[in-house]
Amino acid sequence: MFESLSDRLSGVFERLRGRGALNEADVRAAMREVRIALLEADVALPVVRDFIERVTEKAVGQSVLRSITPGQQVVKIVHDALVEMLGGEGADGAASELMLNVAPPAVVMMVGLQGSGKTTSTAKIAKRLKEKSAKKVMMASLDVNRPAAQEQLATLGVQAGVATLPIVPGQSPVDIARRALQAAKLQGFDVVMLDTAGRLHVDQPLMDEMKAVAEIADPAETLLVVDALTGQDAVNVARSFSDQVALTGVVLTRMDGDARGGAALSMRAVTGKPIKFAGTGEKLDGLEAFQPGRVAGRILG
Ligand code: GDP
Repeated sequence: MFESLSDRLSGVFERLRGRGALNEADVRAAMREVRIALLEADVALPVVRDFIERVTEKAVGQSVLRSITPGQQVVKIVHDALVEMLGGEGADGAASELMLNVAPPAVVMMVGLQGSGKTTSTAKIAKRLKEKSAKKVMMASLDVNRPAAQEQLATLGVQAGVATLPIVPGQSPVDIARRALQAAKLQGFDVVMLDTAGRLHVDQPLMDEMKAVAEIADPAETLLVVDALTGQDAVNVARSFSDQVALTGVVLTRMDGDARGGAALSMRAVTGKPIKFAGTGEKLDGLEAFQPGRVAGRILG
């Protein structure tokens, strides 16, 4: 469906073979192709502009390596800049893990719109913490609006082998959060994961509710869950949440779908926070540490 960027760039640089350095006119011509590729990958326009500017600055005047063509060289420069903007190769490992070095229980607050994959991601991360870090984890659903949301988390808890806070009907999200913290302290849990209520779109009561929960729970991590397939919309969602809540990271779901990964670049640029995990399926083991290198390759096509 998409012509790969590498192919396009080799077209641009056909006549350039054998020349010593990348000049500004050639780089500009190449950047027009890069711009199209990024827009096709669903990267937000302001992010594309900023990216092109940075890469142009980096590329102009660079001498072309003897072993590769000018086209390949620009692809490499673009690839490296994408990786850097997505969080750097280092983020594949340590940086993508959660920072939970606080007095237990460490609270992880999950926020996002309804349908973004928030509840599923909560259970996936809880399972990962249990299996990879041997943490004793409890999950609690604060979603009192959507019928059966609390039961959904309880069911996932059974599947994941992770405890969930017993459901008490009629409690407010803040009450549930308080009860979860108390229970976790008493029972010696290391981590409490709070699955906050989603909404169909961003609204003020949702934000106020999240702030109230954050105030009493003092989360070590606040993760925004966004659906990679929603492209430009995901950017607006990220901006709204980021403006109102102190996010510490992002979980990008549905990376198993046909999204070209542009949302990742936009997310990082808009929130300034690392993408910690990628959701790669409906099952509870469909979660990976976010890998900038792989996503950069996907954006380039
Ligand atoms: P919530 O309303 O944000 O809590 O969303 P849910 O966690 O209930 O997820 C909504 C739907 O998306 C469910 O059918 C999930 O199985 C599915 N889902 C969640 N994450 C992923 C993912 O990474 N990949 C795929 N393919 N489906 C996902």
